[in-house]
Amino acid sequence: MKTVTALALFSGGLDSILACRTVAAQGISVCALKFVTPFFGHELLADEDKFRQETRRKYGIDAELIDLSAGYLELLRRPAHGFGKNFNPCIDCKILMLRRARELMAERGASFLISGEVRGQRPMSQQLDTLQLIENKAGCQGILLRPLSAKLLSPTLPEQQGWVDRERLHAFAGRGRKGQLALAKELGISDFPAPAGGCVLTDPILAARIERFYNGLFAIKPEEITTEDISLLLLGRQFRLPGGFWLVLGRNERENERLAELRGPDDWLLHMPERSGPLALLRRAEQHGNDELAAAAAGLAVRYGRKSETGFLDPAEVLLERHRDGQVLHSVEPLPDPVFQKWII
Ligand code: SF4
Repeated sequence: MKTVTALALFSGGLDSILACRTVAAQGISVCALKFVTPFFGHELLADEDKFRQETRRKYGIDAELIDLSAGYLELLRRPAHGFGKNFNPCIDCKILMLRRARELMAERGASFLISGEVRGQRPMSQQLDTLQLIENKAGCQGILLRPLSAKLLSPTLPEQQGWVDRERLHAFAGRGRKGQLALAKELGISDFPAPAGGCVLTDPILAARIERFYNGLFAIKPEEITTEDISLLLLGRQFRLPGGFWLVLGRNERENERLAELRGPDDWLLHMPERSGPLALLRRAEQHGNDELAAAAAGLAVRYGRKSETGFLDPAEVLLERHRDGQVLHSVEPLPDPVFQKWII
């Protein structure tokens, strides 16, 4: 008999692990899709093989990464179903993921979809009417199986077709996790991430920063926002300089390296060649940047640099790298704190 295949929405959290394992235990071939955007999971793209191997080793699940960045940046501009407590558009996020999963079904030879949603677990996106809304808007009526709450929901195609035995699915509901933890124990799964981690759009501080960014914090239009912009926004010390210019300073060697990687053709870079300190990146400065801007950025680089042997923040040389040329700024004084306090984001 031909093996039936299902695609799963896989966040990597316990519920999605259990959903995959519950269905796989019934002889279904499950392919777990881990959607990533600059707001969640993006760092995994740096080494997808490692992610796949770890998911297989820890949970016995075959998974792959799907980069959803482009559509997601646009979605955040105006999500049809609004935001949750922070800048998290959970309903539209799930619709987008489900739509993408549905589009992949034919290519992967899949007959249905799986998600680890639990009825009533989250106020915004997991109430019964919202679960139905998400399913309908994503065009997944009847083909989306939610194994953890299936017994509390209408039978879906895989149950009706007899591919999956409804009796071996679950009836979990609400915020409690007792049932899931017991099931994890039964399946020998102990090493799983803490709940509600991983999405910066639910982090009050970072979500507020991202929201301000989308609302014109810098001289950047929402339609111009890129994946690299979001990565930059979540990195280092952030400043809004006069004129709406955006400056990021690395706080350590790793962040300095990352800043250099994220540099775009219109960005300026500044650093002190002869003293340890931050790399400073002035985003999109090439067109409208001027000497005053470069001086402010250089003063901040010195201010956050290492003190000299005298124990003071002595003036230092700063190298300014523009798109086509470079310039040495001599004897740059550290910028006094009262000048830039109001620029800190
Ligand atoms: S918490 Fe983040 S990843 Fe999860 S549904 Fe909401 S917006 Fe999407």
